[in-house]
Formats: sequence, C-alpha cells, structure tokens
Amino acid sequence: MIRVTLTTICGTDLHIVRGEYPVAPGLVIGHEPVGVIEELGEGVTGYQIGERVLVGAITPCGQCRACLSGHASQCGHGAAYEALGGWRFGNTINGAQAEYLRVPYAQANLAKIPDELTDEQVVLLADIASTGFGGAEAAKIRIGDSVVVFAQGPIGLCATAGAKLMGASLIIGVDGDEHRLAMSKRMGADVTLDYREVDVVAEVKRLTGGGADVAIEALGTQQTFESSLRSLRPAGTLSSLGVYSGKLQIPYEAFAAGIGDYRIVTTLCPGGKERLRRLMEVVRHGRVDLTPLLTHRFKLDNISDAYKLFGERSDGVLKVAIQP
Ligand SMILES: [Zn+2]
Ligand SMILES: [Zn+2]
Repeated sequence: MIRVTLTTICGTDLHIVRGEYPVAPGLVIGHEPVGVIEELGEGVTGYQIGERVLVGAITPCGQCRACLSGHASQCGHGAAYEALGGWRFGNTINGAQAEYLRVPYAQANLAKIPDELTDEQVVLLADIASTGFGGAEAAKIRIGDSVVVFAQGPIGLCATAGAKLMGASLIIGVDGDEHRLAMSKRMGADVTLDYREVDVVAEVKRLTGGGADVAIEALGTQQTFESSLRSLRPAGTLSSLGVYSGKLQIPYEAFAAGIGDYRIVTTLCPGGKERLRRLMEVVRHGRVDLTPLLTHRFKLDNISDAYKLFGERSDGVLKVAIQP
C-alpha cells in the first residue's frame, strides 16, 4: 500500500471519463503513481515502510508466460480478463488518483526512487516516458537515423526525446499546435512541421532525401498512421504508439503493394521495477528532463478543474501534476 504523493492525468483517463472506454462504475482511475510505502503485504521483501517509490502504469506479475518471455506489457498473455495486457490500475483495479493505492505484484513493481530525484522529475516515467521511449526503442533506431514523430502530445514528445536518446541524427516533430511544436524542439526535434501549413509527407521526403528511416505514430488515427507509412523510405520502420478505434487501413501504394520491406511495430507501455529503474537513471544522469511537460499543478481536491483544463487542452496544457 502506498500513500500517493504525486500523480497525473493521462489521455486514457479522458476516454474513460467520457465513456469511450468502459471500466466498472465507481472505480478509482489513474495509473501514474509516485508515493511512499505505507504498508507492506506478506512476502514482499527488500522494502521498508516510508521508502519513496515509483510504480509503472502497467504492473506485470513477473511470473507468467508473457512476463518471462520478455513481453511484460502483455502480462496475462491475452487471457480474456486481461484484455489490455498488464494494465490494471484504473482499468481492472482501483487506480492512482487517490490518497492511497494498493499495488498488485508489489515485488515486481515497486521501484525505489533515488534520494536526489523529486516526485516531479519521475512521475512522467510511469507511463508517457516509458511508452514514448519504448516507441523509439521498438523501432531499433540506429545512430544517424532520420526519425519523424507524428503528433507532439505528451507521448509523442517523449518519443521525440527517446529518438534523441537512441542516437537519431535528424528528428522531425509534427503537430498542429504551436505550444506543442515549441516543446518538440525543447525535447530534441531538429525540425518541426505544422501540418496546417505544409505537406508533411513531401517535406519529410525532401528533408531526408527520400523518406525517413523511422516514423513514430503517436496519436492513433488513420491519417497519422497513413502519413507515417508514406513518410518512410523503402524498408523503413513504422513504430506505432497510438490506440486506434474502428478499422485501420493500409493503402497498397503506401505499402509498396506489400513488397517494400516495411516493418510495423507496436508498443504498450513497458512496466515493472527494472524498467522504471532504468528510466530513473536516464533522468538522474541528466540525459533527459521531462519536468517542462508538467505545465500545471492541482490539489487532488481540485481534480475536476484539472480534468476540465486537460480535456479542453486549454492554456497550453501538456500534463498536470495532481497532489493529494
Ligand atoms: Zn496512460
Ligand atoms: Zn505476467
């Protein structure tokens, strides 16, 4: 059991609140917790009450076939009751937008926070950074690659930072919001493209001399998926982070009729304490600073105001810090 000291709101929470993704009525939502250990269950070893911990959005068990095969995000291995892999907080069990939170499979999921890191420095690692970096890692970006990232919301911005960490030489951030394009540069984009002003695919092809090595899709629409594919050089990699609804179609010409040697990979937020330890090391050693993405702060009592602001995307909001 942890006492939550900081959490945030995710785009997924908006889908739940709007009824677009159903969870049990009355369930506490939220899946990005930072806290202090309040109580320890039987059999949890190596931890002390009072220690600061970060817990991932995805809480793998560490013992099932998926976990032991290196696919911890898909913990449960697609069993019907685990339809979305190891995503449990605010989905199948009570989540993090609360004063206290029970952590499932605590032994596999409590990541101790180094003393020198603040709650604000680590809270975004639980979900968006693990996902965004994961998109760059799944694409197997190589030193010198050109990478275009479609959508510069919180996850896309982390994918941009991830591409930089992986050694991309040219990073192109695409969005239609000036605040987000400005932040894209801050997170590592060399060039930003506003889709309201330019033909993005043509511009990517021009900038990269024929197509990007990697395109990261960070929104989950037909349009961005298709533009990602069309922006690639032959044999390029499309790394998809978006959550899609309805039918997703691949036009044959964007796919070179199936003989373009394209690679399409998807990523669900990697979780577990070892993943989080690594992400905290990235922050601790100054490789990335995500705190600029925390644009607004609210007390838990005022979370409705936070949902309103976040939902309306007003005031240049990217992520909100929620403090119980
Ligand atoms: Zn999320
Ligand atoms: Zn598992």
